[in-house]
Amino acid sequence: MKHLPPLRSDCSSCAALCCMALAFDAGEDFAIDKPAGLPCPNLDAEMGCALYGRLDAEGFKGCAAYECQGAGQRVTQELFAGRDWRREPALAEPMIAAFAAMRQVHSGLELLVAAGRLELPASLAAAREDLLEAYLPEAWTEESLAAFLASDTPARLRAFLPALRDWV
Ligand code: SF4
Repeated sequence: MKHLPPLRSDCSSCAALCCMALAFDAGEDFAIDKPAGLPCPNLDAEMGCALYGRLDAEGFKGCAAYECQGAGQRVTQELFAGRDWRREPALAEPMIAAFAAMRQVHSGLELLVAAGRLELPASLAAAREDLLEAYLPEAWTEESLAAFLASDTPARLRAFLPALRDWV
């Protein structure tokens, strides 16, 4: 089992994955519609945000509030060695798929870390350890992330969480 990765975003180490992979719906949180898989028009040449520092004022409070829980930089650095989809457009599709899976992994890790702060009985503590093992392999690959999504592990986590209610 690997050590716990950072569960907070580090946008400076990321290939702006949320700005490309995710869809925006025009409304209170986003000033524009943007389909998933296309770059945000506010993304500048250095993969930074042209509206950085004034996102709220420009109608993009959804961007300001977004937190990938560390999935973006991990996909960029660990799976794609810092490469990016803009220089290599063929990477867009695999990066989108890996980012979607890694978001699930990191969201699950955050829940399991929170569960670790509870005084759980031995059976639930053991179930948490088992899940943690599945969410923290030595390394992720594109293939193992896809296999993770197809496995029963996400469903095992969903089934585990309601059992924590009595211990919160
Ligand atoms: S995916 Fe995460 S790390 Fe990457 S730019 Fe978005 S919030 Fe930052």
